[in-house]
Amino acid sequence: MMWGDVTEDFTKALPKIELHAHLTGSISPECLHEIWTRKRSSSAGSQLEDPLVACRPEAEHHDILSFFPVFDKYIYNLCDDAESVAFATAQVLKDFEADGVKYLELRTTPRESLENGMTKDVYVQTVLDTIARHGKASTSTYLILSIDRRNTLQQAMDTVNLAIKYQQQGVVGIDLCGNPLKGDVTIFREAFELAKTHGLKITLHFAEVPQSSTDLELQTLLSYNPDRIGHVIHTTPDIESEISTRRLGLELCLSCNVHAKMLPEGKTQFSDHHFAKWYGGNCPIALCTDDVGIFGSSISNEYLLAASHFNLSSYDLWQLCRGAVDSIFGGEEEKKRLYGLLDEFQRVCDYAETAP
Ligand SMILES: [Zn+2]
Repeated sequence: MMWGDVTEDFTKALPKIELHAHLTGSISPECLHEIWTRKRSSSAGSQLEDPLVACRPEAEHHDILSFFPVFDKYIYNLCDDAESVAFATAQVLKDFEADGVKYLELRTTPRESLENGMTKDVYVQTVLDTIARHGKASTSTYLILSIDRRNTLQQAMDTVNLAIKYQQQGVVGIDLCGNPLKGDVTIFREAFELAKTHGLKITLHFAEVPQSSTDLELQTLLSYNPDRIGHVIHTTPDIESEISTRRLGLELCLSCNVHAKMLPEGKTQFSDHHFAKWYGGNCPIALCTDDVGIFGSSISNEYLLAASHFNLSSYDLWQLCRGAVDSIFGGEEEKKRLYGLLDEFQRVCDYAETAP
């Protein structure tokens, strides 16, 4: 590998970290298709449309609001037993690994399907067991449990308690996610306080749509003391200056925001993305896929897009990767390992440049 033009080979070889990837949204249509085919003979499967059709709606009709029903009505109904969850998780891990991800934080909302004997606890256990079986030879994977905005405080507390129960098995944080038009985020204070007390990190979906970006909501979210925030689209200068002062880690999702038409003022181009506003500032930036199964853009492709739309060199991309390491939730040993991998990558590229 060498410095020089940013190529697909370069962004794939770059040791990358992925910090904002929803487990369910990261399942490829092909993997869903395989689960669907296996289930087709059963009564549950026969009701559902082929995922190759259901999960890739025409891009122009696809926006943030048509996006959540795909999960609520479709993917959750397909992956509704421990066997499917384990199969899908294993495939997701392989996909990230094949794309050169060396450190992965997957996030998921604990789900239950009692008719299939899957409680939320069994669900989390299944995901963690699959991660453990996959091993850490190439990619270290940790889990973040998500509170859904539609949850009650009690449900949110249950999620945090599950995270605490499985902290030693690799749960590192709590997320707040879900349809940004729903729910009241002010009710969750106790849940995030409990998480912090137990040393869990916090990341929040932040300012995704104008309706979830009122001053009250954003100030409330910041008062939960997040370690990182995701998306960060509809912000005001006051909020931005607070984020910058705190040096919060930013999980920025280029393809997701552009394809789901989430940019402000009807902007539609990659070059309009607020990555440009934050790049080079106080806050570490992690480029993230959000839902590669839906948007179809791998993390190496996100780096490629950043390079082409914001005029970044191969060395800039390496620095971007390195900058994100400090905001991981997996601890100091993982940071050391990642800095080591990135330093080694740099040495190889430097050597290629000076070699006769
Ligand atoms: Zn997300």
